[in-house]
Amino acid sequence: MIIRNIWGVGRNFAKHAAEMKAELPKEPLIFLKAGSSASVNSTEIELPSWVEEVHHEVELALKLSNHLHVVEAAVALDLTERKRQAEAKKNGTPWTMAKSFDGACPVSAFFMVRKLEDLEKLTLRLTVNDVLKQEAPLSEMIFKPTHLLEYIKEHFPVCAGDLILTGTPEGVGPIQAGDVVRAEISGEISHTWKVIQAKKREVSNPS
Ligand code: MG
Repeated sequence: MIIRNIWGVGRNFAKHAAEMKAELPKEPLIFLKAGSSASVNSTEIELPSWVEEVHHEVELALKLSNHLHVVEAAVALDLTERKRQAEAKKNGTPWTMAKSFDGACPVSAFFMVRKLEDLEKLTLRLTVNDVLKQEAPLSEMIFKPTHLLEYIKEHFPVCAGDLILTGTPEGVGPIQAGDVVRAEISGEISHTWKVIQAKKREVSNPS
């Protein structure tokens, strides 16, 4: 399954904005993750060798259909290299290293969505090694799925197969090799990943 663009939404839960010491946005805050950073329905999260502090951000992912509607959704992780992001924020430079590294967007299998409004009745949840880290009703989103879809379609060149990551609630934190991460959207989907460390790319000596 090819994922095209990934439109990320920042600071869409007030308590997460507060834990990041960030102001609440007056309109949706949109950033891009490379579509090729998505990995759908895999069982492992492979951390690149160079990352220092990768945080989990559990999010509802909306998938755009051929007619640019949302008929499928998933639970996804907007993995973020928090040190690189903090540096980028301080220096006013792009977030690409923090948000778009190899494997930065693990996605579960997809479930059918009848009405976008129905998603607001569901709860987003994430555990690391069976310890609850993030939990919030999707109704707490500042900008709701319907509004995000309209806003993104109005401003950006969206394609069938794009994902919208709708923002994470409070409780983000680091993951490391050996951890078991479980994400769910109540009553619809759950997915478990084992975190592993990617092998360093070896450079062979010519003999
Ligand atoms: Mg996020």
